Amino acid sequence: MNEHPIAAPAPVARLIEEFHKLPGVGPKSAQRLTYHLLRMPAAEAKALAEAILDVKERITFCTVCQNVTDSNPCRICASDRRDRSIVCVVEEPLDILALERSGSYQGLYHVLHGAISPMDGIGPEELKIQELLARLRSGEVTEVILATNPNLEGEATSMYLTRLLRPLGVKVTRLARGLPVGGDLEYADDVTLTRAMEGRQEVSG
Ligand SMILES: [Zn+2]
Repeated sequence: MNEHPIAAPAPVARLIEEFHKLPGVGPKSAQRLTYHLLRMPAAEAKALAEAILDVKERITFCTVCQNVTDSNPCRICASDRRDRSIVCVVEEPLDILALERSGSYQGLYHVLHGAISPMDGIGPEELKIQELLARLRSGEVTEVILATNPNLEGEATSMYLTRLLRPLGVKVTRLARGLPVGGDLEYADDVTLTRAMEGRQEVSG
């Protein structure tokens, strides 16, 4: 007799599979999350499901800076209190949250939604670079701060952007060293971020 091993009921297997698609969630974690949800009160599980639907329905991307927003243009792009001559280029929306929390920056932002990574098949055309170039054409922006992460992909992206932006006559600066190498901007503390922002230096190419 060739018996099949006992598998999880189909809805359970489906949820495990969905969790497994999320970044940083391995098969074991996906199982744990699923069985945690199974034990959760129905109202709590429903609240979670609704929160997921809500972000998908109400949150969009700002057509100017590409940040996530519930109004377009986003509050930062629409604000008259921001310095419109400086654009800080970051990889992810979470990096903006970190910089805003540090209170060290009053200019505008641009979110690339990733970094150049040949290993993962991510080239410049996958990032929001054309949108950045379009913003610079108006001539209002005089400085672009490259605030990509201090790791291999972030540095590659920064170098690529430097080559692209310098011929446009805009000042290109890079956040000062001091950020933990290999780390993500979003995890840097406020003091480190403020120092990196204030100590930013023009890149020569
Ligand atoms: Zn915006």
